[in-house]
Amino acid sequence: MEVRSLKSILLTGGAGFIGSTMARHLLARPEVQQLVVLDLLTYAGRRDNLIGPDQDPRFHFVKGDINDLGLVTSLVEKFNCSGIMNLAAESSVDRSIEKPADFISTNVAGTSVLLEAARAARISFLQCSTDEVYGPTPFPKQFDETARIRPSSPYSASKTSADLMVQAAHTTYGQDVTIARCTNTYGPRQHLEKFIPTIIHHALRDLPVPIYGSGQQIRDWMHVDDCAKGLIAVFEKGFTRRAYNLGAKCERTNLGIVRTILKQLHKPESLLTHVQDRPGHDTRYAINPRLALIELDWRARIPFRSGFEAVIRELSQSLRPF
Ligand code: NAD
Repeated sequence: MEVRSLKSILLTGGAGFIGSTMARHLLARPEVQQLVVLDLLTYAGRRDNLIGPDQDPRFHFVKGDINDLGLVTSLVEKFNCSGIMNLAAESSVDRSIEKPADFISTNVAGTSVLLEAARAARISFLQCSTDEVYGPTPFPKQFDETARIRPSSPYSASKTSADLMVQAAHTTYGQDVTIARCTNTYGPRQHLEKFIPTIIHHALRDLPVPIYGSGQQIRDWMHVDDCAKGLIAVFEKGFTRRAYNLGAKCERTNLGIVRTILKQLHKPESLLTHVQDRPGHDTRYAINPRLALIELDWRARIPFRSGFEAVIRELSQSLRPF
């Protein structure tokens, strides 16, 4: 199997949660000679997330929009990029329900712009997608990559549309593209609006800890380091046009996650407060990551128990009240 070159990578969304971990993993690879992070620094992106990687002479940061074709094209040319990894996105399901237009602009149109730049330069393209494209998974099924795509929220619909644009770029123009469909990811540097940081933030302040509906929704949880390794494996070794599920086979209810966090923080379960459920809230996500194991020799390796405990400790440090 041909291995794609990591020599000079344009990483979009690198100031976000998964992107800032990707930057660290890419810079740990000696083959990487240039890493260019393009990020708009929306409310979700923080330049500080890149403190550390930014000390590496191979690292370059550019504040800008993936919708800016001129900028993207000039970066690809200037740094002689061998590939684009697209992690830039509007990523909050709740915000997508409030304001879907931003999701179409960044997640769909922005991906299309990046594909155009990759096409012009004849370079490889990796799309970071989500298990949410499959919609709710009936128990005890696990969806593989042949499952029907059936997104529920404006967020997942926009990510699905982007996946289709990526696959169309291969079918129509013969572009070299791959897709990674990642499951729920936990780790350091995640934005406060997201589920796990929200719980920790509230619990540390003895505030009511909100949980949607019954809390019985099931998610598959993967450590962000496993996610980053999987994304790199898909880019390097994935068959062109193929989508790969990156999951950890680690299903937990949202309620179970909240209880684990409260226990570790020595906070009472009485803080738990059920709030009105999110409209169209998917009951369960469960993907089968077997294809990534067979074709890429990738699987999530960090055990949930130790990985999650360490992340709660780390996030508690950064989210503690002053
Ligand atoms: P995030 O919200 O933490 O980061 C997104 C980053 O993209 C931010 O730094 C933001 O500034 C940047 N950005 C937004 N719009 C931009 C634009 N127009 N141009 C340039 N930069 C822009 O998101 P995340 O959780 O790190 O997710 C990264 C990717 O992984 C997304 O594509 C998301 O859909 C996907 N994903 C995330 C998860 C998860 O659990 N976090 C699960 C599956 C898939």
